[in-house]
Amino acid sequence: MIISALKSTDTSDQRSPIHSETISSLISLEAEIFFEDGIGEGIFTSNEIFQEKGLRVASRIDCIAKSDLLISNQPLGVEEIKLMKSGSTLLGMVNPFSNQDLINCCAQNNINLVSMEFIPRITRAQKMDVLSSQANLAGYAAVIESAKYLSTALPMMMTAAGTLKPARVFVIGVGVAGLQAIATAKRLGARVEAFDTRDVVEEQVNSLGAKFVKIDLGETGQTDQGYANELTDEQIQKQKDLQSEVCARSDIVITTAQLFGRPAPQLIDQKTIEKMKPGSIIFDMAVESGGNVEGSKVDEVVIKNGVKIVGVSNLASRVAGHASLALSNNFNHWICDFYNKESSSINFDFDDEIVKSSVLVFDGKIVNERFQ
Ligand code: NAD
Repeated sequence: MIISALKSTDTSDQRSPIHSETISSLISLEAEIFFEDGIGEGIFTSNEIFQEKGLRVASRIDCIAKSDLLISNQPLGVEEIKLMKSGSTLLGMVNPFSNQDLINCCAQNNINLVSMEFIPRITRAQKMDVLSSQANLAGYAAVIESAKYLSTALPMMMTAAGTLKPARVFVIGVGVAGLQAIATAKRLGARVEAFDTRDVVEEQVNSLGAKFVKIDLGETGQTDQGYANELTDEQIQKQKDLQSEVCARSDIVITTAQLFGRPAPQLIDQKTIEKMKPGSIIFDMAVESGGNVEGSKVDEVVIKNGVKIVGVSNLASRVAGHASLALSNNFNHWICDFYNKESSSINFDFDDEIVKSSVLVFDGKIVNERFQ
């Protein structure tokens, strides 16, 4: 079997789907492994490092055209899908909810498609969970990036010139990214408050030494996979009104609220921004999926009434070395768990919950009913 790893075509994504520290598990498959020329540039790893470990360099076109299994951390365009071998497999992050064309094209061209976004939330699959591994690093990066825009320090400082108060950070949405943002802001000495519609997270917030903001929105809850249920328009309005006081007293507000498969809810509007202090920061971590903040823009700092609204694409890429290490481990675990060495092929066992959930297209058919 020929396995190839592709470089990202998106310049804001510096991550690599292979990492020199995790190559040995791919090598153990005894497959022929190629990588796209320059794949490690964003993580300061030269072609030679991968070659020394037994991998072979090839052009993008060659990787695409001759592989049985292609690994990529960005979706491929339909023209590239058409170059793939019939019966081969594309595995990676494919942004499925905005890529129906890619899914259809895979079915028409008999390309099996594995979407790592659809790894189920079961204990056995945690090692493959790209959304968690990348969200965790993004939560860390959000605090570091926000701190750069603030004109004050995060920790309290007792100096001969007087006492400097700690910054106040408010985290909205306490999933994987939010928890890491809370932990990072706490480590840096800020006073941290947080809110989530899933009240089960209150204990987690408290255990990190932060304060859970109680806002009664009536019936909220979560799905069996742990994702938040969508709120009604009235609930969203109530949330906006009640949390605006917390935003007004915060130096940094980090929004992480997402809804799986749907646009992110808008939680901070112009009215709230007007209440905030000039010089404070709103970091919109949902900017790429619709945005939690009115007026936030991808890869821009929008200033409204002196409040800086920051949106950064591919946030985990700000710590590309660790993001690549985690990502390549996630990919390798999927491949190694389902690779059959004797037949040199992938064992698409649809009785396995991980295969059933993550494979969107198999044998020329769309097998996930959401995309049929
Ligand atoms: P996510 O990225 O879908 O959303 C981020 C957070 O935003 C969630 O906590 C969500 O509740 C919150 N949110 C949505 N609407 C909101 C609103 N109006 N106001 C405030 N917050 C709002 O979520 P996620 O990071 O994927 O995590 C969701 C849960 O799943 C977490 O409890 C996480 O620990 C759990 N999880 C479990 C596994 C597993 O069991 N293998 C793996 C990953 C995550």
